[in-house]
Amino acid sequence: MREKQEGIKRIEKEILLCRKCPLYQEREKNNYLPVIGEGNLEAKAIFIGEAPGLNEAKSGRPFCGAAGKILDELLKSISLKREDIYITNLLKDRPPQNRDPQPEEIKACFPYLEKQIEIIKPKLICPLGRYSMRLIMEKYGLKEKILPISQTHGKVFEIKNLFQEIKIIPLYHPAVATYNPNMKEILKKDFEILKKHFPFS
Ligand code: URA
Repeated sequence: MREKQEGIKRIEKEILLCRKCPLYQEREKNNYLPVIGEGNLEAKAIFIGEAPGLNEAKSGRPFCGAAGKILDELLKSISLKREDIYITNLLKDRPPQNRDPQPEEIKACFPYLEKQIEIIKPKLICPLGRYSMRLIMEKYGLKEKILPISQTHGKVFEIKNLFQEIKIIPLYHPAVATYNPNMKEILKKDFEILKKHFPFS
C-alpha cells in the first residue's frame, strides 16, 4: 500500500510540474488544479473518464459534478461505492469549454495514466467514453476490435498472456445520461454486465 501511495505521489508531483501540453496554461490562468485520480489504490478495478470538467478542475477531484452523481448512482445500482474502485481520467487538466481532448494533449498525458495502471494493477479496466476506450484498447493490443462506442459498450474484452489477465469493459461516459435520460437505462444494463465480471477478491 505504502509503495502504491508513494508511486501515486510521484506521479502527482510530475503532473504539477508538467508543461508538455498547453493545458497547463489554462490551469495556471484559471487557478485550476490537475485532477490526478481518487479511490482505493488496492482496488481491482479502475474507471477512466475523459478529462476534468469545471467542478473537477476547481476541486482537484474526479467526477464530482453532474456526471459524478450519475456514476455514483450506477455504482450503487450494483452495490459498489467509490471506495471499491479507483477513478481517474485520460487527461489530468481541464480542456477549455470542456472541448474534446486533442491528440497532443492525449500524447502528453497518457503516460501518466499508464503509470497509474502499472501501480494499481487492476484486473478490470472500464474506460468511460470513446476517447479512453480507444487509448486503452490500443494499449492492450485490441486496435482491430475498436468500433464506435455504440457497438463496444458493455462488451467484455479479455487480455490473457504470460504476464497478466485483464478484462476491459468499455462503457458510455456517464455524462451522456445528463443530456439523454434514456441512456441511463443502457448504462444500468452495462453495469449489470460489469457486476458479473467485477473482481471482488
Ligand atoms: N467527466 C470526466 O470525464 N471526468 C471527470 O472527472 C468529470 C467529468
